[in-house]
Amino acid sequence: MKIAILGAGAMGSLFGGLLAEAGQSVTLIDINAAHLGAIRDTGLRLTNDSGDRHILALKVCRPEQATEPPDLLVVFTKTLHTVSALKGVQHLLSSDTQVLSLQNGLGNVEAISEFVPAGQIMIGVTTWPADMVGPGHVHSHGQGAIHLMTADGSERPALAACVDSLSTAGLRCEADPEVWVSIWEKVAFNAALNSICAVTRCTVDQLDLLPEGRALALQVVTEAIAVARASGVAADLARTSAKVVNAIKGHRGHMPSMLQDVLAGRPTEVASINGAIVAAGRRLGVATTCTATLLELVRLIQARAVVG
Ligand code: NAD
Repeated sequence: MKIAILGAGAMGSLFGGLLAEAGQSVTLIDINAAHLGAIRDTGLRLTNDSGDRHILALKVCRPEQATEPPDLLVVFTKTLHTVSALKGVQHLLSSDTQVLSLQNGLGNVEAISEFVPAGQIMIGVTTWPADMVGPGHVHSHGQGAIHLMTADGSERPALAACVDSLSTAGLRCEADPEVWVSIWEKVAFNAALNSICAVTRCTVDQLDLLPEGRALALQVVTEAIAVARASGVAADLARTSAKVVNAIKGHRGHMPSMLQDVLAGRPTEVASINGAIVAAGRRLGVATTCTATLLELVRLIQARAVVG
């Protein structure tokens, strides 16, 4: 299968590297010149539980240089860049292209639907972690998994082919018709921990410095799960709350991506996480007071970063 990864940062490089190692034809498409240049020169350096190696069998290019239409386009930009990134590779898309998003947040199907119909979109969630160490170097650790389904719920052959390719690459993938439950529960988890850490600059475990830290996180989870359930998704409050408590107890020193983005003065994914929950809550008549306050605080921090 010809696979293109759109947005070859931490996750895109991890997935692209493992798929290439498993024998797939993979092109990494990105706009980060230093990262692309390093991979072109010496291959992708991937450090994970399987070792530290350079993966040479990867093609890399900028969007406008990409010429080979892929069978599968995996979108791994941050959610705020999805539409602009897809515009950059529109010339590669045809009725034969399947597009997969395992990005965090909500609204990914809607964004991709501007470019291909739902019958060509697959949506899912992954628990694999990845970090950019530097240009051309990505790190991951531990075990993750992928759950995905077709955006229109159909059981088309492309779904099985995608699951097979990702599983063969060691990425532990399964088709899951209940994937929206996992997507919403991850959104609830991220809305709580990402936005509170971004605003307070606490690491995840520091939310336990005061009982109010944990209580606020659990209130955001409660709001998000209430919105999920009002929208017809059977997300589970006890399960998601337990994951948040475990993270606060166990993730010593962990800085969620939204905190990393704030510290680096970059825009965050808050619009597709807290913002999407608040918007859906308004539509469905579910109160999201704490989630909305955190949204506005993160937006304010972002606005301040722009004016300097
Ligand atoms: P990242 O910032 O490391 O990578 C995003 C890449 O997109 C960057 O290399 C950037 O240059 C590229 N990009 C931006 N605009 C582009 C454009 N117009 N055309 C092509 N490329 C463009 O982000 P990440 O950590 O890999 O996360 C990607 C997505 O996966 C996010 O939605 C994130 O929430 C989700 N996710 C991340 C992790 C993780 O551990 N990192 C885990 C699960 C899900």
